Amino acid sequence: MPLSGRVAIVTGGSRGIGAAIVRRLARDGAAVAFTYASSEKAATELVDEISSTGGKAMAIKSDAADAAAVRAAVDQTFGVFGRVDILVNNAGVLHWSPFETFTLEDFDRTLAVNVRSVFVASQAAAAHMGEGGRIINIGSCNADRVPSAGGGVYAMSKSALVGLSAGLARDLGPKGITVNNVLPGPTDTDMNPEKGDHAPGLHDIMAIKRHARPEEIAGMVAYLAGPEAGMVTGANLRIDGGFAA
Ligand code: NDP
Repeated sequence: MPLSGRVAIVTGGSRGIGAAIVRRLARDGAAVAFTYASSEKAATELVDEISSTGGKAMAIKSDAADAAAVRAAVDQTFGVFGRVDILVNNAGVLHWSPFETFTLEDFDRTLAVNVRSVFVASQAAAAHMGEGGRIINIGSCNADRVPSAGGGVYAMSKSALVGLSAGLARDLGPKGITVNNVLPGPTDTDMNPEKGDHAPGLHDIMAIKRHARPEEIAGMVAYLAGPEAGMVTGANLRIDGGFAA
């Protein structure tokens, strides 16, 4: 139980990669709070699943686009579990549509959820963290490779995390807190189903021609959250089946 006694908060933990991260951190011994936007049923079922196997989990409805709600979720985690050691900034939205008709609403929403919430949650969580704290951002292989039209704004939001993660690593290193950016490739979730129309085109440019399973991404997050990763900071860790190779 490498995370025994630790407390984690995962944004966007009700489904997909976030849910796999919640399960894995709980299995490794952490008490895990996670946020969601609207999937109350999935969130409740995940808490029940973890509780039934002896773990500790708490779901918090908190829109990542709402800075006050993000701060409140971090503070609620601290209030209930008494500490915050690990923050996983996973919540994300994907608007992939033609440049000519891309709306400003989608532009602003993408930046609010994918970038601003990472800054807000990190600032709030770091205030509670001490030596050994961990901030793990979920970026994307699209940070620097956009294999089809329409992904510019999403890619921009994920490349912003490269710079933000490096900067926060410098800001928080003196407190003993690491900050890293995980860049998944195509991963089988509601956002990017392995059976979706775009999957064959993605597999064409990968060295390993399949989607990742969310559990594979969670494994890398668990490593970064754990005691062996204390010297890993400011890193961009690809887990993309060779998408960028
Ligand atoms: P899903 O769409 O399958 O799940 C998204 C999760 O984030 C859900 O739990 C959802 O909550 C939550 N969420 C979405 N918007 C908000 C919000 N405004 N506030 C709070 N929670 C929110 O996505 P994935 O699991 O595929 O993606 C997770 C992360 O991984 C994202 O950052 C994504 O960009 C990144 N990523 C995904 C890849 C992929 O191929 N799947 C590849 C590379 C990166 P709710 O259930 O309530 O809607």
